[in-house]
Amino acid sequence: MNIHEYQAKEVLKSFGAPVSEGRVVLKAEDAAAKANELPGPLYVVKAQIHAGGRGKGTFKEDKAGEGGGVRLAKSPEEAARFASEMLGATLVTKQTGAAGKQVGRIYIENGSDIETELYLSALVDRGTGNVAFIASTEGGMNIEEVAEETPEKIITVQIDPATGCMPHHARRVAQALGLKGATAKQCGKLIPTLYKAFTEKDMSLLEINPLIVTKGGDLLVLDAKVGFDPNALFRHPDIMELRDESEEDPMELKASEFDLSYVKLDGNIGCMVNGAGLAMSTMDIIKHYGAEPANFLDVGGGATKEKVTEAFKIITTDPAVKGILVNIFGGIMRCDVIAEGIVAAVKEVGLEDPLVVRLEGTNVEQGKEILANSGLKITPADDLEDAAKKVVEAVQG
Ligand code: GDP
Ligand code: MG
Repeated sequence: MNIHEYQAKEVLKSFGAPVSEGRVVLKAEDAAAKANELPGPLYVVKAQIHAGGRGKGTFKEDKAGEGGGVRLAKSPEEAARFASEMLGATLVTKQTGAAGKQVGRIYIENGSDIETELYLSALVDRGTGNVAFIASTEGGMNIEEVAEETPEKIITVQIDPATGCMPHHARRVAQALGLKGATAKQCGKLIPTLYKAFTEKDMSLLEINPLIVTKGGDLLVLDAKVGFDPNALFRHPDIMELRDESEEDPMELKASEFDLSYVKLDGNIGCMVNGAGLAMSTMDIIKHYGAEPANFLDVGGGATKEKVTEAFKIITTDPAVKGILVNIFGGIMRCDVIAEGIVAAVKEVGLEDPLVVRLEGTNVEQGKEILANSGLKITPADDLEDAAKKVVEAVQG
């Protein structure tokens, strides 16, 4: 789960990390009053969306005025004007895709005088199983580009969970960032602070781009992107409250409402399967026969007719789907229940794409009979291989 920049800064601030003072604005008419609460004389007006590259982004509407999603203002009045221009407009950045994202919240922050922009992040390194810090002097820009063109400028510092964050880790980060004297000393405090925030809040990613050195030589978190491990959210009700559903994929949101495990993917064959392992092998076999799955969808072991109907609706509302493969192994789950769910769903939402169904297990004969007698255009399959071949053929032919 991701949160907004201003929320990430609040979380980091609660651990003692240095951030500027700021105010969140939800309605244009509040912008002036909020900006006036800040000392100035420089103000930064920042569109809050769950995507980076806002500074270099562009708005779709003329109403949004000149400039991207991060603007410097010289007075509270100017800051308020920028905020009202951006609120409600659609911001397109490198990370949003062409459709862009509608801006529902603005953060007005006290502006800083920047000496240097640095890059610092912490993540779970899947290779080593450690939390690792990634540091680079090339901050403020696209870190993927730096990684590609000048990988030697990116330094990784692994934190062994047995020792936790030690002073030498922070010293190595400070060195990688080219920091000296009092600024390096501040880094010595910042790194353990970030590590504590990362581990205590079960973050999966903490990216500060840029971390800046101010003209006065102080370190400051200027931008912050934070993601959390969804499996650990149950123990962080305070973080759960920060969820902004308008930023999430509407289909994934709908799926979570019905307790379905759904992940949108890039292909065009929609999959409805029970059990994560079977869902994985279904995706594998679709790829094996030369096509790509449009989603991962596990309806779970004990799905009801309603759940199957919702799952089916989620798949059919995805415009990328050109064919559907239902692959159910009825253990606890009965095939006739699945069949009824499919028939109900098709009657409710209609069926334009080829649908291949493979049922096996408990009450499989009744299930097949329900499908055959439904009068719907459903292609039955005997086994997984047969099912995959049939759906790939239907989509590609
Ligand atoms: P992003 O474009 O979504 O990554 O948004 P950032 O928060 O990283 O802001 C983009 C850029 O705006 C930064 O790299 C800075 O160059 C500039 N910027 C942001 N805040 C300030 C500030 O307080 N003062 C100045 N001078 N520039 C800022
Ligand atoms: Mg940034």
